[in-house]
Amino acid sequence: MTLKDVLAKAYNGETLSIGDIKQILMASPEEEYQIFELARLLRNRYFDNTAYAYGFVYFTTYCKNKCYFCYYRQGNKAAPRYRKTKSDVVDLACKLAKSGVHLIDLTMGEDPYFKEHPEELEEIVREVHEKTKLPIMISPGVVDPVTLASLKDAGGVWYALYQETYDRNLFSQMRYEQDYDTRMELKLQAKNLGYLVEEGLMTGFGDTIEQQAEGIFHMGEVEPSQIRTMTFVPQKGTPLENMKKSNSNKELLMIAAMRLSYPDKLIPASLDVEGLGGLKKRLNAGANVITSLIPPEEGLAGVSQSELDIDNGSRSLNQIIPIIRECGLELGSHEKYQKYILKNQSTVMV
Ligand code: SF4
Repeated sequence: MTLKDVLAKAYNGETLSIGDIKQILMASPEEEYQIFELARLLRNRYFDNTAYAYGFVYFTTYCKNKCYFCYYRQGNKAAPRYRKTKSDVVDLACKLAKSGVHLIDLTMGEDPYFKEHPEELEEIVREVHEKTKLPIMISPGVVDPVTLASLKDAGGVWYALYQETYDRNLFSQMRYEQDYDTRMELKLQAKNLGYLVEEGLMTGFGDTIEQQAEGIFHMGEVEPSQIRTMTFVPQKGTPLENMKKSNSNKELLMIAAMRLSYPDKLIPASLDVEGLGGLKKRLNAGANVITSLIPPEEGLAGVSQSELDIDNGSRSLNQIIPIIRECGLELGSHEKYQKYILKNQSTVMV
């Protein structure tokens, strides 16, 4: 099958195989143009030229884990550590809500403090939800099923838990001493509780095209409503700090392959990898959610770029809107975003 045949399959809404996805990921620079063009066409077929923006509050950077790729892995003395109070988190979330974001993403490392005090975590989610009236995405890592359920009751709508790879060997090289199956199982439990799930892959970590294609194909099996990919950024103070940083070309092709495989799903263009300067190319590859908007000068960090474009105010709605428009998109209304949630929740509940 030629790339032209693969693109015709995607255009006609047929399921792409791992082999098809590999063809997309191996495209030559000349072929990439057609792939990105089709990705935009499919995005616009399902989302009417709309994009959404998510506020990001990384409220505790303490973590018990030692993921090899992560700046905030336990024991990394180079990483800034903080744990925001509930009132700080609520204030920050309210600022983001006032700026017009569609969702508040409450992200944390697997902070032992909250493992011991899950009720405080629940209170944070509840109060942010009550005060902002926005949908909440929780990204707490692996939590026990009781906590997962209580965070849902507190107002959690989305549960983000990234496998990062669907290759078990690579997984064990990424997530030190963590269990592949526990992570997968928790996503399914979250869906049973009525959460929408976000799944994610990392690239630029020594992953092969085969592994990337398998990841994109298999990530659909947990029926996520949002899927993302990000390029690995080597982090100071980690075992991989001297690894060569990849450019974002593969991430762009993976975004496009995700759009061609799952045209009706939300796909983020994260500001966390290349900041505002990397937004346009990600939207032009088929993404339609701008993630990691962070209020400036509040002492908040990003995940893969702890400082990039934060305190200069570039991760804000008024900075991204002109770029969204240059890409032929408009910010969707809150009502439209809510409709997406309800539509996806109805499939979760069936
Ligand atoms: S990726 Fe998450 S779980 Fe892993 S070390 Fe970093 S903060 Fe902890």
